[in-house]
Amino acid sequence: MIAPASEISIRSCSICGSNNCSLKYRVDHFRIVKCRNCGFVYLQNPHTVTADEATYQEYFSNAAAMAALPDNDSSISATAWNIYYRRIDLIKKIKPVGRLLEIGCGRGYFLSLAQKNGYSVQGIEIASDAARYAREKFKVKVQTGNMENMQIPAVRYDIITLWHVLEHFYDPLSVLYKLYNMLEENGYLLIEVPNLNSIKFRLANDGNRWVGGNHPRYHLSFFTFNSLARILLHSGFRNMKLLTIDYSSARYSGKSLVKKALYKVNMDSFLTVLVRK
Ligand SMILES: [Zn+2]
Repeated sequence: MIAPASEISIRSCSICGSNNCSLKYRVDHFRIVKCRNCGFVYLQNPHTVTADEATYQEYFSNAAAMAALPDNDSSISATAWNIYYRRIDLIKKIKPVGRLLEIGCGRGYFLSLAQKNGYSVQGIEIASDAARYAREKFKVKVQTGNMENMQIPAVRYDIITLWHVLEHFYDPLSVLYKLYNMLEENGYLLIEVPNLNSIKFRLANDGNRWVGGNHPRYHLSFFTFNSLARILLHSGFRNMKLLTIDYSSARYSGKSLVKKALYKVNMDSFLTVLVRK
């Protein structure tokens, strides 16, 4: 579907600067468009306050139901903790020790687990309430700030993680340049984003919304394996590997077969990617 010219004026492509685009999805009044010049898919008309701290304060208060408190053994909590355990298990295989930075660490659940597993940890989080929670509850170092406009710290990291964070930036390429400079030589960058080519994304539209990916109030950039690979290589990273993390708990193990099949054709719900400096 081609967008009429009147719709093509709000935000140009953050990767190549072109404003020649076509409408790919519409969600409520949001327009997700594809750049005709470079193929990048982005939200053309974000809320002006999208990156504001206030928006993310609300994000975390809305997410309180999933707040996975360690002393809360509800099924939601167990599901959330299962995700964090799978992630740390993966990282331990890649780099068993070192300095780990999590961008968008929220309330610090994953970061606390990394610290318990021996990593020297640091977080960066835009929402000050969530950052304070992480500092007070888990005694982890968290800086409040927005990667898009903050100065990079002097310290260098062995591994930087972005779990469902890169899609929240206006200009993911400039963030990747910064992250490259924040890594030690041969350091690792681990990114997980919703997959634009996934079945869930393909089925998402006005009436059938996939909050995990098609969430334009917060999601400003959208990735396929190829578009993610392109900007990672462009920002200097190398040795890109597509990883698979099976987040399904034991009682849903039947999902694993479906997941493996979707993964083989790059249509799994999420892209988990590892690159090196
Ligand atoms: Zn472009």
